[in-house]
Amino acid sequence: MLNVRSLQTYYGRIHVLKTVSLHLHPGEIVAVIGANGAGKTTLLKTLVGLLVQQSGTILFRDRDISHLPTEKRLQAGLVLCPEGRKLFGDLSVQDNLALGAFSRKDRQGIKADMQRLRDQFPILNKFWTRPASSLSGGEQQMVALCRALMSNPEVLLLDEPSLGLSPLLSQEILKAIVSLNRNQGLSVLLVEQNARAALKICHRAYVLETGRVVMEGEGRELLNHKGVQRAYLGKG
Ligand code: ATP
Repeated sequence: MLNVRSLQTYYGRIHVLKTVSLHLHPGEIVAVIGANGAGKTTLLKTLVGLLVQQSGTILFRDRDISHLPTEKRLQAGLVLCPEGRKLFGDLSVQDNLALGAFSRKDRQGIKADMQRLRDQFPILNKFWTRPASSLSGGEQQMVALCRALMSNPEVLLLDEPSLGLSPLLSQEILKAIVSLNRNQGLSVLLVEQNARAALKICHRAYVLETGRVVMEGEGRELLNHKGVQRAYLGKG
């Protein structure tokens, strides 16, 4: 589905991603964990073309998208839900969702997807006409997730969906992600500070350290790995 080979990204002269390779099969949740500054956000931004890679290849459904502009990658089904929500605070929940569908032309499909999301996430109905800025952090995160879903993703790239949320709300967001994966077959590349929660819900995971993948494995396997426990799970 997504096959990333030897990706390198710089900020000016700062070498942030140092030959990152990873893959995602259809229907998988794959987590990327790592310390602050490891390059997780940089990786997601590079995948959607918000940052230009220095070298490496991004194959999406066997097509090389490495040099496509962000909008084309979005239309192909590679969609980023960015860190910090980035909603349009003055706009209503409805309008924020409509913006998620800006690159789509199928009006009937857009209408049907909005209704489906309203049925699936009652919180949308509750605040449908309210400005997004008046919602709580967790509610805004749900709206951000739904806005990304309005772009019709094949693969959803999620950057820190539980950042700044209470444990209970974090659980709710992660539950919603699992449900989308199980019930709708959505493939997800999940970047999470909360390594334990991410490893619990993912099929596989990569550990990123200073711009390099230093370990990969099944979620369960990494949860039980002594080095991962020491470095990322606060054990030992
Ligand atoms: P966090 O968990 O704190 O969000 P991260 O793993 O997502 O961290 P990145 O945000 O990708 O890490 O940052 C990777 C490195 O790139 C860091 O050293 C950071 O300081 C640097 N960096 C990030 N954005 C910029 C920028 N706009 N200009 C220069 N350096 C940057």
